Amino acid sequence: MFVTHLECSLTGERYPAGQVHNLSRAGKPLLVRYDLAAVRGAMTREALAERAPGMWKWRELLPLPDGAEPVSLGEIETPLLPLIETAAFHGASQLLVKDEGRLPTGSFKARGLAMAISMARQFGIDRVALPTNGNAGAALAAYAAAAGMGATVICPAETPAINVTETAAYGADVYVADGQIDECGRLVGEGATAGRWFDCSTLKEPYRIEGKKVMGLELAEQLGWRLPDAIFYPTGGGTGLIGMWKAFAELEAIGLIGPERPRMFAVQAEGCAPIVRAWEKGDEFAERWEGAATAATGIRVPKAVGDFLILRAVRESGGAAIAVEEGAIAAAVQDVAEMDGLLLCPEGGAVLAGWRAALERELVGRDERVVLFNCAAGNKYPLPDRAERIRLAEVNGAELRPRGLSPIVRAGTSAPRR
Ligand SMILES: *Cc1c(COP(=O)(O)O)cnc(C)c1O
Repeated sequence: MFVTHLECSLTGERYPAGQVHNLSRAGKPLLVRYDLAAVRGAMTREALAERAPGMWKWRELLPLPDGAEPVSLGEIETPLLPLIETAAFHGASQLLVKDEGRLPTGSFKARGLAMAISMARQFGIDRVALPTNGNAGAALAAYAAAAGMGATVICPAETPAINVTETAAYGADVYVADGQIDECGRLVGEGATAGRWFDCSTLKEPYRIEGKKVMGLELAEQLGWRLPDAIFYPTGGGTGLIGMWKAFAELEAIGLIGPERPRMFAVQAEGCAPIVRAWEKGDEFAERWEGAATAATGIRVPKAVGDFLILRAVRESGGAAIAVEEGAIAAAVQDVAEMDGLLLCPEGGAVLAGWRAALERELVGRDERVVLFNCAAGNKYPLPDRAERIRLAEVNGAELRPRGLSPIVRAGTSAPRR
């Protein structure tokens, strides 16, 4: 194992590895640091090319102790898919989606929780908990089940139903709360203080980010060790964006990439855009967003503990923080589904809408290579009513006339019967 220590992301204060940690004494995220000079010798392009694809090929840059088996449900290398028709529609040529919806439990929360639960098992933790807008809860519950741990999940009432029932299906205790995710987080924190469970909230636990940073490692290798010009990321807690930024620095330190970096675009919904507001005001930290509301539930995060790290990465990279409206999110999901056959999740739709806005504002060029992150499978969410596309076919002569559907079509014909 190449971990040397953990470090407070604000003050730089050092903490020993091999112990259970949450936030630093300053109340900020802890980041894992590695002996990168030693990793440099072990993790060469050639060595990587020979390893089986997936999250665990990056082991030297992950915190799992030597000899320890990860808790794994099959964390594949996610595909990088060109949106050929969508790009052509905008006169762009190099628009790629990293489709994280293929991971276990249908979202990239699997990456972070595979790592966090693997570490929790090393520490002998037997019950874990987190607040969630849906995907993290499902992933926590699945990995906890695989590890033989108990799991408790607290989610806002607007959490997509499939996530709530999926989480319960894995045997977790699920609470639906009358508040936002940060308020659910407060309950989780109180339970942790009372000794009921270990708090796995993102960035309040130091290892989820290490799992999520693998997105950046994979992306670099998939693109032949040349990072794209721009990355558009659906930003809630920002763990993935911060994680990728950390991954790029580590890859440079071990000699696998040079100093070039993509411009990082943090995309949020207009109904919950604390990072965008702070970025526009030039603030270092982001104030809580009151009355947060968006169908892109994964990015409905009024207050992120890593706010300053998101803002720092966006600024250092020369990117921007962009807010998009609900209508643009829904239109983006529908356009990509019909044009390219990929069902983005609403957060992925937000990211495409963010790219469209950036094109318009000339923050990104049509000839630039752009990677959009779609972080969950679209069919984990309620889909828009497309009743006009659904008709009835008569097979047994039964009277089927659900409301809202068009007139009956006889099987084998296409003419509607009046
Ligand atoms: C959690 C989530 C996000 C936000 O991820 P962060 O790294 O916490 O900003 C975006 N999209 C989906 C689908 C999510 O589940």
